[in-house]
This record gives sequence, structure tokens and C-alpha cells, in this order.
Amino acid sequence: MSIATPVTRALFDDIMVPCFSPAPFVPVRGSGARVWDQENRMYIDFAAGVAVNALGHCHPALTAALEAQSQKLWHVSNWMTNEPALRLARRLVEHTFAERVFFCNSGAEANEAALKLARRYAHDTVGPQKTQVISMANSFHGRTLFTVTAGGQSKYSSGFGPVPGDITHVPYNDIAALQAAFEEHQDNVCAVILETVQGEGGVIPATEEFLHIARHLCSWHKAVLILDEIQTGMGRTGALFSYMSKGITPDILTSAKGIGGGFPLGAMLTTKEIARVFTPGMHGTTYGGNPLACAVGEAVFDAINTPGLLESVKTRYRLFMAGLKAVQQRRPFCKEIRGEGLLLGCELDGSLQGRALDVVAAAGKAGLLLLAAGPDVVRLVPPLNIAEEDIREGLARLETALSQLSAS
Ligand SMILES: *Cc1c(COP(=O)(O)O)cnc(C)c1O
Repeated sequence: MSIATPVTRALFDDIMVPCFSPAPFVPVRGSGARVWDQENRMYIDFAAGVAVNALGHCHPALTAALEAQSQKLWHVSNWMTNEPALRLARRLVEHTFAERVFFCNSGAEANEAALKLARRYAHDTVGPQKTQVISMANSFHGRTLFTVTAGGQSKYSSGFGPVPGDITHVPYNDIAALQAAFEEHQDNVCAVILETVQGEGGVIPATEEFLHIARHLCSWHKAVLILDEIQTGMGRTGALFSYMSKGITPDILTSAKGIGGGFPLGAMLTTKEIARVFTPGMHGTTYGGNPLACAVGEAVFDAINTPGLLESVKTRYRLFMAGLKAVQQRRPFCKEIRGEGLLLGCELDGSLQGRALDVVAAAGKAGLLLLAAGPDVVRLVPPLNIAEEDIREGLARLETALSQLSAS
């Protein structure tokens, strides 16, 4: 291999750690909900970098914010604070339940902070025995050892032990099981962590009843309710954060993915009462609150947190549902289409069961970026501002992909 080796997909296998299996093409530029590869082929983007590019690729307001900040100040560390971080935190505090904000760089880091904060809060306010975390089967919370253990998919955590202890999993939406877990651990539960819609787990919404009971049990047993809104947050379900449309308030909320619009950014939001136990030096991260990330975050926040954008997510939801149902009628491929806002899942049926990755690959060949959520579910998480024309074109390409799959 030399410096002249072309940077193609083949090079990946030669020089990268094989924990990913990327698509055969290499994207080089994007605009809105469209992406072009090295051969200048255009793809319609229903994946948005896994729900990250909430405003599509290279949104002018985000590009402008990044360019302007890049001329001023890139990084100062947490030995100093900075204006973009304070401005973004002020927005989050003004528009959510939160009174305190912690910035980091990814979803896993936000959840790691949330779980550590919950443990420390219980430790300091009740005692060292209050350590149990209740999490949901089939949930996803990130890839650090603590978050991957809290996540309810053993395929991601097995073989990495010993893993952190005192984490119990209950089936999602199972009220009796949640009550039983609280009964078993009595007042030693320090936190419940859950997604309002399980994303990686197959696009499964929590029932409102389950959320309300979880809230109630947490309050009763002095445990904190952590909502992982890393995928559901920042407008994706049609609310700024999805808890706002469910009639419950978390004690800790984690955000990442969409909040940075494509720039690495994560946040943990909480109350003054809980935040106070994290005293200086107890937790941190070098890049958290980085001025570049937070300047982009401000622009993302201002573009998403408008009644017009949030309302239009619901309009686009209806367009997608109608379009997917029409595809389903002409070429049956799934047994259920579900989700909220622009977090949609199609559970595959018949000969396509278990073949979500094949559907994603066929879509790629037809010029459409899709995602899988487990073996049985195809996931759509397009930019929140995707043009109607791109929705139509993407759905047509989905139909092409499905016809090519059934022909092969
Ligand atoms: C993606 C995701 C995470 C992990 O985020 P990273 O930025 O990959 O660490 C955690 N929770 C949920 C619900 C997610 O969708």
C-alpha cells in the first residue's frame, strides 16, 4: 500500500478496525436530503446519518454558524467557559424542564453522565446501598461499558465482562414487570432509564400508561427517571423533546444525534437539585461544550424550535405514512408501519422477515439511504425538513428496491 492507494471502499477493509461494515459506495458531498458518492451518483437520504442530520446536509444556517465560529475560537477546555456553550445551555433551560445542562460529545457520554449522576445522587441523598438501575430489554443507550450494559441487547455487551453490576432489565411496556422490579429491589432503585420510542430496538413507542407508571414509581421510590431522547429528541417526533407530548417530566434527559445537526454534540439536562451533587472535578470531558459544536447547536436549536418546523414534522409524517401504505399495497413488504413523527419503522413480512440488511443494501443500489433497526425492521429517519419531492422520489426508489429483491 502506498500514499497513492485510492481511497475507495476496498481500502476500508485493509486499514480500518472491522467493527463496521460500510456500504459499497463512499459519499463525498450532500445537500439537504440528497447525497452524492465518488461516482457522482445521487442518493435520497432517509437515514440522515442515523437521525443526526436533522436539518439535512450543509444547511446554510449551520454552515454559516460553523464558519463564523471557526474564525473566532475553536476550543478552550472546561477550565474556561465560552459564549456559544452558555447561549445554547440558556436556550435548553428556557425551553425544557431543565435547570442545569452538561455538554459532551456523544449519546453514550450523555447517558454515562446521566447514570453516574443518578448513582451519585442516590449515594449522597440516601446512602451507598441505593445503586439499582432498571433498564428495558432491547433498549439501546450507547457503547461504553456502563451504557452498553444498561442497554438491553446482550449481543452488544457479551464477551466484554466483567460488566458494571446492579442493572436489571424488564420487558419494555410491561407495567407488571416494572412494578415487580421495584418490589424486588425496594428502595434501592436509583434510576429507571428508557427511550420514549425504542430506536435501535425496532422503532417501538412506549405506551403512555407505561411512561406514567414509570414516572410514578420513580417518584414514589425516590429514583430518578432518565429519558434517553438521543434519537427522539430535537423535533424528531414533532415535539422539541418527545416527553413534552406525553404528559410526563423526566429528572434527567439525554440528548445527542440531532442536537448537533451533524457536528458531534451531546447534552445531559437535569434539575438544580440533582445537578448539585456533581461538584467540581467529579465528572467531566475535555471537549464538552466545545465552542464550534455549541455554535452549530445554537443554529440547530433556532431552526428546529419553531412552531412551523415542528408542525411540518407532523405533515411529513402523514406524507410518509400515506406513501408507505401505497407502496405496501402495490408490493406488500411489511406487516406493520409504526413510529412517531419522522422516526418510522416498517416491520418486514413474508420472505423479507429477518432481511432488513438486504433491504437496506437493495435500497442503496436503487439510490436510497435507509437503516435497519434489528433484523426485522427497516427504519426511516429522514431530515426533518426533507422536501416533499424527495419524499416521493425516495419512496419510488424503495419500491424499485423491493421489486429487485423479489426478482432476485
Ligand atoms: C444513538 C443512540 C445512543 C448512542 O449515541 P452515540 O452518539 O452513538 O454514543 C444512545 N441512545 C439512543 C437512544 C441512541 O439512539
